[in-house]
Amino acid sequence: MRKYVIMGIQGSGKGTQSALLADDLDLVHISVGDIFRWHVKCHTKLGAQVRRLVAAGELVGDDLVEDVVRDRLQLHDWNYGFIIDGFPRNRRQAEFFLESYDIDGVIHLDLPDEEVRRRVLARRLCSRCGMDYNLIAHRPEVDGRCDVCGGDLVTRADDTPDALARRLRDYHNKIDPVVELFRGKEYVMTIDARPDKATVQQTIRSRLGLPT
Ligand code: AMP
Repeated sequence: MRKYVIMGIQGSGKGTQSALLADDLDLVHISVGDIFRWHVKCHTKLGAQVRRLVAAGELVGDDLVEDVVRDRLQLHDWNYGFIIDGFPRNRRQAEFFLESYDIDGVIHLDLPDEEVRRRVLARRLCSRCGMDYNLIAHRPEVDGRCDVCGGDLVTRADDTPDALARRLRDYHNKIDPVVELFRGKEYVMTIDARPDKATVQQTIRSRLGLPT
């Protein structure tokens, strides 16, 4: 049984790296952001409570997030373990987590702010079918057009330089203390997230003592 937390700023490849690791080790990948997005999409009561915050990229209140994480982990569908992504996001959530669960490691994907800006500002989204593109790593065949449905590619509303600068500031204010708290417990593996995704995955595995 392996229990991991993965942390990293937006654009650091957190979702991709967790999915690769989860697939291979049969871990359940728990993305708190995905859980909230599901509730919003399905118009649940919780969805109505968090819709505005999720759309604005602001953090949902700690009590609600802790309930969601507790309920999700109580399903106990994680026979081989889990990798949780998007939680904890601040010191209080980290303290709650440490009191409630023992974890085997914290994978901290480290990406300089300048590279985050480059990656995030290159993101595009199809206005018709929602397919994601990235002008650095995944360009459309025809500039500005979706390969799948031919729809117009647009920038996400919250991917402007100003909004990003605010998110970077918020991220560091909240996450740096969490990394320090976990580091005090000697859980943290800081991984350089700049190389390509296969290299990053290999580094994670070797740091976790897994076959690469
Ligand atoms: P993510 O996909 O991880 O960026 O999460 C999407 C959105 O879900 C965030 O912008 C927040 O509104 C909410 N969210 C996800 N995880 C947390 C968390 N640990 N604490 C508070 N809000 C969260």
